[in-house]
Amino acid sequence: MSDPTRATFALAFVLIGLTTSSVYAEPLLHLSWVDVSGMPAGPLAAAIAEAERLLEPSGIRVTARPLPAGVQVPAGSMTVLFGRDREGAGDDTLWGAAPAGCDEAVWVYPQRIASALGLDPAVPHAWPAARDIRFRRLLGAVVVHELLHRLADAPHAEDGVMAATLSPSDPVSEFRVEAEFHARLREGVARLSAGLPLAALPLD
Ligand SMILES: [Zn+2]
Repeated sequence: MSDPTRATFALAFVLIGLTTSSVYAEPLLHLSWVDVSGMPAGPLAAAIAEAERLLEPSGIRVTARPLPAGVQVPAGSMTVLFGRDREGAGDDTLWGAAPAGCDEAVWVYPQRIASALGLDPAVPHAWPAARDIRFRRLLGAVVVHELLHRLADAPHAEDGVMAATLSPSDPVSEFRVEAEFHARLREGVARLSAGLPLAALPLD
């Protein structure tokens, strides 16, 4: 067997293994989060918990932990970077990003979400309880939105968690990961764990 043929067979076995595990097992998503936004840890941790809740029906298990900025992120894990809003820089309606060329990270901007809800990011302890809860759920939804782009190759939808622009008035209680993305999400998590590129996900 020539080397290229051997390599093809090896890849085929890896892909068969991934397909099998994505159907019959619960893939484990190692989620790290790094805060450079300067926001308090409580609401960010609550948003990650909300993201875990939204991902649960997809059949993936999540282990989430905060990491200090500058610490090496473990291979095969996904990092949520809570970025600092730079006043006047970029589009305020852009709450998150999953830029090309960086498979293992997504960016989310909590201060922009707080501002859109009329909350002063500098004094989170003074936020009214109802809007604080809304902030946490919206932030969690934005995390999931970016993870679906990255891990499931999910496109934008007219409404729901994959709407191109989420808004402060969105019905957060109705957010869910649509069933059509569950299998692709599981496969994306399995590929991430195996160190395979995510961009090669099939679309069907
Ligand atoms: Zn998007």
